[in-house]
Formats: sequence, structure tokens, C-alpha cells
Amino acid sequence: MDYVLTANAIGKSYKRFHALKNLSMHVPKGAIYGFVGKNGSGKTTLIRLICGLQNPTSGSYALYGTEHTEKAIRKVRKRIGAVVETPSIYLHMTAEENLKEQYRMLGLPSFDGIDGILKLAGLEHTGKKKAKHFSLGMRQRLGIAIALCGSPDFLILDEPTNGLDPQGIIEMRELILKLNKERQITFLISSHILDELSRLATHYGFIDSGHIVKEISAAELDHVCRKCLCLEVSDIRAFALTAERMGLEYHILSDTRAEVFSKTTVTQFVMPLAEAGCEVLSIHEREESLESYYMSLIGGKINESTVIR
Ligand code: ADP
Repeated sequence: MDYVLTANAIGKSYKRFHALKNLSMHVPKGAIYGFVGKNGSGKTTLIRLICGLQNPTSGSYALYGTEHTEKAIRKVRKRIGAVVETPSIYLHMTAEENLKEQYRMLGLPSFDGIDGILKLAGLEHTGKKKAKHFSLGMRQRLGIAIALCGSPDFLILDEPTNGLDPQGIIEMRELILKLNKERQITFLISSHILDELSRLATHYGFIDSGHIVKEISAAELDHVCRKCLCLEVSDIRAFALTAERMGLEYHILSDTRAEVFSKTTVTQFVMPLAEAGCEVLSIHEREESLESYYMSLIGGKINESTVIR
């Protein structure tokens, strides 16, 4: 697999405080990588390192296969766009003027492409309106539009939906999906809003106290988080035989406990078990959400719904 970013055992210390510890992560090309962690877990610190604003205290990272210590990294960084913390926009300028300013700063020879970027970001009708009169969502999208000026193929967004209203969140999500699909831009998006990320992410990296506790693809996570019936039975052999006969997908946990993953109702299942002489001692349904999965990773409890006895 091709990786846009690989981080290898990165450490970052501020005096005696270790903001990042032995952090390793892998962002595949074309991914929307959800970088999930609570406030203060080290997300912005890592992003600052990748953007070249600071250096790691230990470990290394590579962008498109180029190590951060190589000279060529400066050139490679031109392929990256970032909106870190608040977007750097000129509030007294219109959206178009902001983009022209960015083009000048990048030394681009003409203003070709600005109309296209404004359209892409849904800002083509903002005309003479100055950025200071924009909604927060429009400002965030302008931040992304500015980041797009250098035609990056990797965009890093630090908490892009922070403070946005529901409409703003939807527009931001649509913009990210469009850029990913139509321009094949890889994204690294940091957020503590798990539910929002779950509508976008193709991959996740969960960070806690400066360390990646788990990297997982969205497909793998869907598998982990699917619904299941957890049963306690008197005869696990009879249970297994019945489950086989019914063609159910199941998993034996111990000599009295098992999980059933197939879509089945309790009655459809309990009756044949009773006929096979297997008593059901307890049943409960479990559905792990992205949030409860994350909580379980960092030592919290997995969410379980009501126990039916
Ligand atoms: P997140 O983006 O996940 O909210 P940060 O990367 O901003 O977390 O911060 C991680 C930890 O590092 C926090 O405890 C923060 O206080 C600390 N930190 C960040 N920058 C500095 C700095 N320049 N000096 C000292 N501590 C810092």
C-alpha cells in the first residue's frame, strides 16, 4: 500500500512534558484518515510537526516516502495543504481577494483556477462580501479554499467542524467528500467529534496521551461494531449444533457463553434451542458504537443495552 504519511515512534517533549510518546501512524494514499482523540491528547502537536512548524524530539516521519530529515522534504511539503486551528484568512478581504493574495504568496504566475476553487468551496456567490461578514462555516471553507491554491494532494484539517452549526457541518462534510472523490485528495482530519467523523473516514487512528492506541480501517471497524446477541446457555454443544443447523454466524466465548452475529430474533432462536435441550440463561443485545469502541480502547466501558432475562 502507498502511504502519504508514515510516522515512526515519534516523541515530542516540551521541557519535561511528553506531548507525544512513541507515536506511529500510517495514512494511506486516497484515505480520509480520522485522527481521533480527546482534547489535549496531542493531535495538534503531531499536525504541527508534519507541517514542519516544529521538529520531533525523537523518532521520524516520512511524507510520500521522503524522511523528514532529508533536504527534499521542503519540496514534498508543497504537496500538502493545512488548516490548523483557526484558518489564516484576511477578514477585510473578499473570498476572491483572499485567494489572489495566496496566489501571490505562492508566486503563481496567473490567477487561473481561482474561480474553480471558489466554486468547489461553495463560495462563488459571495461577491463583494468581506470575510469578516462570513459565517463560521464559510470562513472554514475559505480556509480550505486557500489551502487548495497550491494544488495539494494531501490536506490536513485540524478540528474542521469545531463550532459549526448543523448546516455548516453538512457543507464541510460534502466539501471534504467531493475533494476526496473528484480530486483524489488524501485527508488527515483531527476531531473529537466521533459521530461526525464516522460519516467520512475510511481509516482511523485513535490517540490517547500522545500515543496511537489503535489504527483501524472503517471496514474493520464496522465489523467490530456490528450488532450481536450475547447468550449464556446451559449446553454450549447443543447451542453450537443448533446454530450450525440454522446457518448462523456465531462465536463461542466460553463453555456457557456465545455471541450470534446474524440478524435473527430472540424467538426464532430460543425455540429451536429449547427443542435441542439447551436452556437460555440470559440474552442481551450489544452494539458497539464508534464512541464506545474508543472508550474501550482507552480503558472505558463498552456500551451494552438492556439485559433480557
Ligand atoms: P489536542 O490537539 O489533541 O487537543 P495538543 O497537541 O494541542 O492536543 O496538546 C497536547 C498536550 O501538549 C497538551 O497537554 C498541551 O497542553 C501540551 N502542549 C502543546 N503545545 C505546548 C507547548 N508549546 N508547550 C508546552 N506544552 C504544550
